[in-house]
Amino acid sequence: TNAPRSLLYLDGVSVSFDGFKALNSLSLVIEPGELRAIIGPNGAGKTTMMDVITGKTRPDTGTVLFEDTIDLTKRDEADIAQLGIGRKFQKPTVFESHTVWDNLELALNRPRGVYSTLFYRLSGEDKDRIEEILATIRLSHRKDELAANLSHGQKQWLEIGMLLAQEPKLLLVDEPVAGMTDAETAETAVLLREIARTRSVVVVEHDMGFIRDLGVKVTCLAEGSVLAEGSIDFVSSDPKVIENYLGR
Ligand code: ADP
Repeated sequence: TNAPRSLLYLDGVSVSFDGFKALNSLSLVIEPGELRAIIGPNGAGKTTMMDVITGKTRPDTGTVLFEDTIDLTKRDEADIAQLGIGRKFQKPTVFESHTVWDNLELALNRPRGVYSTLFYRLSGEDKDRIEEILATIRLSHRKDELAANLSHGQKQWLEIGMLLAQEPKLLLVDEPVAGMTDAETAETAVLLREIARTRSVVVVEHDMGFIRDLGVKVTCLAEGSVLAEGSIDFVSSDPKVIENYLGR
């Protein structure tokens, strides 16, 4: 088959801001269908890494490949989104004055150049897709609710659903559980594992309980490169990780 061996391949990626190395020869491989957790202290380069993957920041040196062959350093942000890389920023940015359903409908239609739900009729297939996403993000029972009336955690889920409407092959998620209740946090771990059954997901988080719940391979960044990588037990018992991150 022609299935890619790696979905995302970073090798020797460096980014400097005024001589300061935000990324210092970072290497990382994400496999197709993988859910990966990224941890590390503030300033470790986690955001810069996401910026490089999504084309917001161009690396000074290094290789960034999508599906083995596509050189992301040669593509712009719109191009990279089109390739199937979706990014969720920390703060939810849903349309508060629209219903949950309309938020998803707008997200589904955006790539088709449709920006209003008024003049566009959804196909049965589109409706099924929205119902499917609603079930994934645990919001079927609130589909007619205004997004403004959702809890903080539900808004985060809705935004994840809006990204799913674009069918990304890789979903990058920045600190999804910050500000969530314990119940929402636990549910988010289940939800992300479900989503990763059909695509790859990279999630940056500080909540170690959540990371442990995810039960996936963890990469700890520090000073712009990989400090440790492996199971949460392996990574969290690494003296370098304790010194640079957990013990702080
Ligand atoms: P993290 O997300 O792990 O907290 P960042 O990637 O945001 O880390 O930052 C890594 C380092 O790069 C930090 O020291 C930060 O101050 C610096 N940095 C990030 N973006 C810029 C920028 N646009 N200009 C200057 N310095 C930056």
